[in-house]
Amino acid sequence: MLNKLRENWDNILNTLRSEGDITEVSFNSWLKPLTIVSVKDNIITLGYDDSDIGLNILKKKYLKPLQICINDALDADFSVNIISSCGKIESDETKPIIKKNNNSEGLEPEYTFDSFVIGDNNNMAAAASLAVAESPATLYNPLFLYGGPGLGKTHLLHAIGNFIADNNPELKVFYVTSETFVNDIVSMIRNMKDENDKANIRNKYREVDVLLIDDIQFIIGKDSSQTEFFNAFNYLQSHNKQIVISSDKPPKEMEILEERMISRFLSGMTIDIQQPAYETRVAILYKKAEELNLNISDEILHFIADNVVSNVRELEGALNKIKLYSEFTKSKIDIEFAKKVLIDFISNDKNNEITPKFIIKTVAEHYELTMEEMISSKRSKNIAYPRQIAMFLCRNLTDVSFEEIGRNLGNRDHTTIKHGVEKIENDIKEDDSLNTTIEILKKKINPS
Ligand code: ADP
Ligand code: MG
Repeated sequence: MLNKLRENWDNILNTLRSEGDITEVSFNSWLKPLTIVSVKDNIITLGYDDSDIGLNILKKKYLKPLQICINDALDADFSVNIISSCGKIESDETKPIIKKNNNSEGLEPEYTFDSFVIGDNNNMAAAASLAVAESPATLYNPLFLYGGPGLGKTHLLHAIGNFIADNNPELKVFYVTSETFVNDIVSMIRNMKDENDKANIRNKYREVDVLLIDDIQFIIGKDSSQTEFFNAFNYLQSHNKQIVISSDKPPKEMEILEERMISRFLSGMTIDIQQPAYETRVAILYKKAEELNLNISDEILHFIADNVVSNVRELEGALNKIKLYSEFTKSKIDIEFAKKVLIDFISNDKNNEITPKFIIKTVAEHYELTMEEMISSKRSKNIAYPRQIAMFLCRNLTDVSFEEIGRNLGNRDHTTIKHGVEKIENDIKEDDSLNTTIEILKKKINPS
């Protein structure tokens, strides 16, 4: 949710600005300086780092409209709270910790080493990550982590970043997905003529002390991004800056990767993360249940560990689903209930065949939406658009009919599906970043 809020943040402010008829100067003084501090439970906490006057004005005048715009954009129901980010906490109900400094970008505060469960499958990766976080650019550079989906690569990248932000706040840390990277490069190429813009984007990736780049496999094969990345990489490495890379495969198996890049990657440390064994799955479930405040018996946790085997994201998903359903139906969580709720889940875990359902699920995960939202009748853009992308991908990657796609998407009729598919077909022609997203989604659905 935090990432989603960040992605939508500029839009939210712009909507507020135009709908609230807010002048330039008010906008620049009160709204623009707001920062996102945390998203926890149902509360979004924003920080304002200036005078008390500003804080009062914000609270009196802008809090409600902000809350409305945020909830509209996210299609959610958060209450919003603004605190002084000079360190003073304004409200007693929530005590968020402001720990990020202005030097770090893109970090999710909840992904830390503390919240990472170590097992035989990931202890090397965790140890190397911690070593890098403790002494950036001295031990392993680059650190290259690889493994299948949902096994904790992203978590470890953020953990490294958060650790450095806490302990070495003067270092500039930048977490970026390769999707964002590609989009930046595409926009750089578009602005070919504007040397300033070009330099800005280029510098964004060079003026850092620690670059954490996630899912590098999505850059591979895109010539201009690959070259640009290689240049940034060389620049950083030769200036003694830390680079951490994650990927779904080891460098040697990335066929389209240039030889020179493979050898550069291998010059650091390459470590894999495997699937967790039974005991580790149980340990992770205990930890996650605790984090979710979920009162759940050992029997059920063992049942989940027995049946959900492929990755940690699925384990988490199983717990979330139990929690959601029990709240929704006000049922007690016993083993019968868990078995019923997880039926789909468990059979799903075992096949990754390319079906409409699998495609919809992959799109949902990409946009941090739930399956329920995808098939719901909600039509806010942040759900409706991913839903149309799912329609398009179902049409392109399987040979099922519009009717069948509609059945998988909450019983929509075939004209709705046809319209959605055509909409994306048209948008792709104009929108480079949509194009990148579609390519990445295709790779997520069919990685081979
Ligand atoms: P990947 O990037 O490898 O696809 P993620 O890092 O996104 O996987 O992990 C998926 C989810 O599982 C995240 O919510 C993450 O916090 C959780 N997770 C993965 N490994 C662990 C672990 N060892 N301990 C605790 N949580 C984990
Ligand atoms: Mg990841």
